Parts: sequence; structure tokens; C-alpha cells
Amino acid sequence: MKIVFAGAAREVTGSCYYLETSKARFLVDCGLFQGSRIAEQKNEADFPFVPSKLDFVLLTHAHLDHCGRLPLLYKRGFRGKVYTTEPTVDLVQLILEDAAELITEEADRHNEEPLYSMPDALGIFKLFQPLPYHKPHSILGVEFEFYDAGHILGSAEICLTVDGQTLAFSGDLGNPPVPLLRPTEFITKADYVVVESTYGNRRHEDYHLRKSRLVSAIKKSIAKKGVLLIPAFALERTQEILHEINEVIEAGGLERFPMFLDSPLAIKATAVFRQYPNYYNQDAAAELTKDIDLFTFPGLKMTLTTEQSKAINKTKPPKVIMAGSGMMNGGRILHHLRQYISFPNTSVLIVGFQVEGSIGRQLLDKARTIKIFGEEHQVKAETEAIGAYSSHADQPKLMEWLTQYRVAPKKVFITHGEQSASLNLAEMVSKDLHYPVEVPQLFEEYEL
Ligand SMILES: [Zn+2]
Repeated sequence: MKIVFAGAAREVTGSCYYLETSKARFLVDCGLFQGSRIAEQKNEADFPFVPSKLDFVLLTHAHLDHCGRLPLLYKRGFRGKVYTTEPTVDLVQLILEDAAELITEEADRHNEEPLYSMPDALGIFKLFQPLPYHKPHSILGVEFEFYDAGHILGSAEICLTVDGQTLAFSGDLGNPPVPLLRPTEFITKADYVVVESTYGNRRHEDYHLRKSRLVSAIKKSIAKKGVLLIPAFALERTQEILHEINEVIEAGGLERFPMFLDSPLAIKATAVFRQYPNYYNQDAAAELTKDIDLFTFPGLKMTLTTEQSKAINKTKPPKVIMAGSGMMNGGRILHHLRQYISFPNTSVLIVGFQVEGSIGRQLLDKARTIKIFGEEHQVKAETEAIGAYSSHADQPKLMEWLTQYRVAPKKVFITHGEQSASLNLAEMVSKDLHYPVEVPQLFEEYEL
């Protein structure tokens, strides 16, 4: 069997693994490269395989860097099935519709051919085939099974067996304990392991502090009559934050304040979350018996339309605005940044990974000016990051996940991390666990 690393090799985005056996050709994930113009060129490049000759795709979860090139795959001739979990099928439709819209708008603005458009996204939706966790499925000599990765709703690790060899794909691993999801499951046996390393060289701060830091950021903004901007990651983080604020308000820890969820994608994703309580952990399921909606509270307004979004300006500070995108490389957050970034009583609260090249990364790196819609803006706002909101395992958790293999794998491939993070994790895996490791380059191919 052959594996080709067609994305997320020595970088975080673009997850895509091509596998070829004597009977089948398939992919694990087909994500978008994100963050810069170079990423756009990589998205447009030819795949190192022929899309129309692929038999099927296995999809780990609904994040754009894992599913974002699926419509392109359809556009270039793929007509096989895409297997994934049930919540992922619903979430991926929201994510890809949104992506198709943004990509088309962007291409129109530059008078360019879009990478793909809505008909390609609608085309790929018809090919989705949901499967539950822990139910082995067999196709063309490939037996595979999904495990709960605990990263976002419906996220999966994939364990597959071909010709007597077992491969484990971590997908993105979660950062348990989290308020809604079940903990990340361990796979205990595999000949080959492909593992992510987003935070391969980092340790997150203590989980228990995150809610109190969120609450103090809100209180601080209220006290200084400022605007608190929370760039929203539409899947999981948004719902977790809403859920935590809901808890604090119910417990009397916060007075009512004006808050806006200004992201159509996050609003629709929250509706999908409400549909799948059977995927929640025990605590969240138990809470549902007392509170029918874990994601709304007095003072929260969900602004779906552009008019509603524009009207947010009319509400005098203090106010909290949670808007997409999470890395501030697009979406309504840009309008709010333009409006408020040059005021010293504005705060930006970062709650997730910021890819190189994004405005979020520039703010984290203390940029004095940022460019929004081609215009320079002075940064007077303060930026704070709460690492514990990450939905990714940190280095100790990645190591814990890798330690569960009862017999040492023949090889561990480390992907989905900036080069320094991947190399750092590789060194640790080699030194502490004595597994043979590789950090593949883009398009590198291995015979297994
Ligand atoms: Zn992810």
C-alpha cells in the first residue's frame, strides 16, 4: 500500500492523505490550505492523484482545513462516497456552503475564476454517507471504523485495516475535559500512525482557569465601557463559550450585558449542536434536563442578517461581539475590528489557533498597525489570548494519546503542525517512546 501526504505536511492546514492499495484508491480528508496567498496557489494546484479515479473519501471532521477542498474534488470529477459521522454531515454542509460563497465573492472581486462555486458544494453533499462511531464498515478490501476524537461535534479518529496492516489517523485530537464533548478516545493498536501536531511544542494553560478568565475579560470590558471582540470559531468554541456564559449567568456570576453572536455560520452551527444531544458527554446531557437551551441567555442577540449585524453599532458600549472568522482572515469580525481596533478601551479575546499570515496572528505578535480591506489601522486595543480554549490536544495530551499503543507502531507520521511543532513532537516521540518517526514533506510518498 502507498500513502502520499497531499497536505498538512510541515504546516497546519490542507489535511489530505492519498492511499492506494491493490483494490482501492481513497483519501483521508481533503482540506483547504489557509492563511495566505501562497495557500491559495496550493489549493489551485493539481492533486497528486486523479480525482475521478478515487473510490471514496473518509472524512475526520467538519473543519475547513479538513473538508474545504471536497467541492474542488467534485469539480474535478470525483463521484465516489464520502464517509463520515452524522453530525459532521450536517456541519460540513454549513461550512462548505459558507466557503463556496466566500470563494465566489472573493474571485468576483478580483475578476478571477473561483476555486469552486456553489454547484460543486451542492454536488459533493449528495455523496455523503453517515456512519456512527464504533461500527466497522468495509469497502473494496478496506475495513474502517470511526472513534470519537473529542475535538468538535462529530469529530473522528479513523482506524483502518488493509491487507492485514492497520493504520490509525488521529484527525484532530481534542483537549478534554470540555463542557460538551466526550473525551478523546484512544486507539491501542496500529502498524502505522498519522498524528496531528498543531500544538506539538506547546502546553496549554490549566483548563479550570479558562472560564474565570473569560468572565474577567467580560467584566473588565463592562467596567471600562469598552467593546470586547471575540473572534468566533463557528464550530465548538462558540457553543462552548455560549454555554459557559450561560452557566455563569444562571449561577448569578454575571449581570445581564449586551452580547451579539454575529456569525450566520456559528448561529446555524449552534442549531446543529442542539440536534445531537446524544453526542454530548454525561454532564452536558444531565444539564439539558434542567435547562432546555444550553446556548442562550438573557442579553444575547443572534444577528443573522446583514442589517441586524450593522445595527450592532447602534448599541452603545459596553458590549461583547462574537463574530467570525476565528482567525480574522475574513467574515464580519473585520467590520467590527475596523470600527473598534483603534480605541484603547477595546479588547480582542483570542480563543484559538492563529495561522501564520492571519490578522489574528499579527495581533498576537503585537502589531502596531493592521490592514483591513486594504486600509491601515492603528492598533490601540489590547489583545488577550486564552490558550485553554483550544480544541486541540497540547504536547502532553498528544504524547498521552501516542503512549496508548500496546505494541510500538512500525512508524509514526507527524503532520498537521508548523514545522517546528512537528519536529519537536517527533524528537519527543523518538526519545521517550522509541517509536520510529517521520515528518513528511508535502507530496512525499511512502510504501507501507
Ligand atoms: Zn479541526
